[in-house]
Amino acid sequence: MDCIFCQIVKKEMPADVVYEDEKILAFKDINPKAPVHILLIPKKHIESLNKADETDKGLIGELFWRAKFLAVELGLAQSGYKLILNCGKGAGQVVDHIHLHLLGGGNFSQWNI
Ligand code: AMP
Ligand code: ZN
Repeated sequence: MDCIFCQIVKKEMPADVVYEDEKILAFKDINPKAPVHILLIPKKHIESLNKADETDKGLIGELFWRAKFLAVELGLAQSGYKLILNCGKGAGQVVDHIHLHLLGGGNFSQWNI
């Protein structure tokens, strides 16, 4: 399978890893859109939220739960941070392995939705 995030999980491609456990990996985005830009992924290949099934819901919850603690570690908890999950090409998803963006340390006024 030709998935860059699976290659990062298998250590076949380098990444600046900030957190790892048996189910989750978090690493710095290669093209950061904010002073702090981390990607949290499940080690399991799930193409997108659209493709996730009932058995994946705990894993998806863990991505958000881990983001909460990483935000504290990275000094973002007080200043604030955004969590973004792009689902599908129309929303800007370019890597077809589900990932949660953790963004912080910047001025987010232009991001408000
Ligand atoms: P998305 O647009 O939601 O699919 O986000 C994909 C993100 O992956 C983008 O922010 C990219 O900069 C990032 N990215 C792509 N390849 C790598 C890589 N090898 N290491 C770290 N981040 C990457
Ligand atoms: Zn993958």
